[in-house]
Amino acid sequence: MSMVHDDALVGELFAELEQIGTVDAHEHLPTEEACLKEERDFFSLFQCYCPADLVSAGATDEDMAFLGDRQRAAGVRWERFKPLLSAIRTGAYARSALIVVRDVLGLEDLNDDTYEAVGEGLRDIHKPGLYDYILKERSNISACIQCWCLGSEPYPDYFYHLAPGPEVVDLHNRGALDALAKRCDHAVHTLDDVLECMTQVVEKWRANPKVVGIKSAHAYGRSLAFQKVNRSVAEDVFNKVLSNEGHALSTTEALPLQDYLMFQLVARAEAVGLPMVFHTGIQAGNYNRIANANPLLLQPILEEFPRAKIDLFHGGMPWVREVAILAKYFPGVHLNMAWMHIINAAQARSALAEWLDMVPNTKIFGFGGDYHTVEKVYGHLKIARQNVAMVLAEKIREGAYTRQEASMVARRLMRENPDRFYQLGLD
Ligand SMILES: [Zn+2]
Repeated sequence: MSMVHDDALVGELFAELEQIGTVDAHEHLPTEEACLKEERDFFSLFQCYCPADLVSAGATDEDMAFLGDRQRAAGVRWERFKPLLSAIRTGAYARSALIVVRDVLGLEDLNDDTYEAVGEGLRDIHKPGLYDYILKERSNISACIQCWCLGSEPYPDYFYHLAPGPEVVDLHNRGALDALAKRCDHAVHTLDDVLECMTQVVEKWRANPKVVGIKSAHAYGRSLAFQKVNRSVAEDVFNKVLSNEGHALSTTEALPLQDYLMFQLVARAEAVGLPMVFHTGIQAGNYNRIANANPLLLQPILEEFPRAKIDLFHGGMPWVREVAILAKYFPGVHLNMAWMHIINAAQARSALAEWLDMVPNTKIFGFGGDYHTVEKVYGHLKIARQNVAMVLAEKIREGAYTRQEASMVARRLMRENPDRFYQLGLD
């Protein structure tokens, strides 16, 4: 962050970015009520995403259970954590946590002398008003787009929601069919019944002013290569589900039905003007199959719906260049930097610099915290603002942007683009 302090232009742009009421274009936060039931100590800052780095650094299942076991004294857990922290602290996942230690708690670092004070500091702010304090007062966030809620949960009024696409696409067993039937008060005996229910559910989502899009996270469990399949093929699978009673079909068996229903869902989302969100690129955690998440696999959907509002999450990391071509080709495709700045801050910067050269500046969303732990949204947003400031400063220096254009792009990335795309009505 010395670059921000040492470089006057970057510092000026960073200060300007802090003044922009930011749209946080992706979160997984529990309600504040649920959050306040969690315990807080030094390790709380490392229980979201950092576990993947800890495991990668060699932490065993037993280590992870030990570190998270708050029945044990903080001191013995700190001793076990210390060498692991040393291995991961220079990565961007941990950097966000250490920014919270410094800026929010006012402690120089997390170390032998401060691990107890870090716990105390987190417990001091862990009280009603925590969300407003972190998100509004400290972070200047104007709106959060929260994942997989239906808008009826008790979130602050600046939260908006993405509806869960799997509810109408992942119908691998009778239970899922029955749940769908219940949701729309319509019996499900045929594939046509499923489609009728899907229409109703999507219309209900559209009618809810808090629901601003529909999300698919299928890349966690299958390839993004949704194919256009014939109705009769989907119907055969559907009939198997019907006759299978409690027995779920395997992922592979269910694939043609899921493919068919995804095309049907995107068609309905487009018809009512709701954005579709796809997780693309790196999956959270360890051991997943990255090849499943290549954004280029979405080609058949994009060809079928070239103007549907589609938000591709995480820049398809590491396929940040491929995803930019998709946004250049297809009018509907937008790029969301959610999570990117803490997966790989350097790649987030180089990707943004390239995207700004090849994608309209109206189609990029500059920040999404993508966290379960609200305190860390502050740390992530600071890295994001530093990244955007550095990229824009470079554009000015190379003579590509005027100073005024840099300000215009900053406002679009951090606020206006997601506001308009998700129809939040902020401005
Ligand atoms: Zn997410």
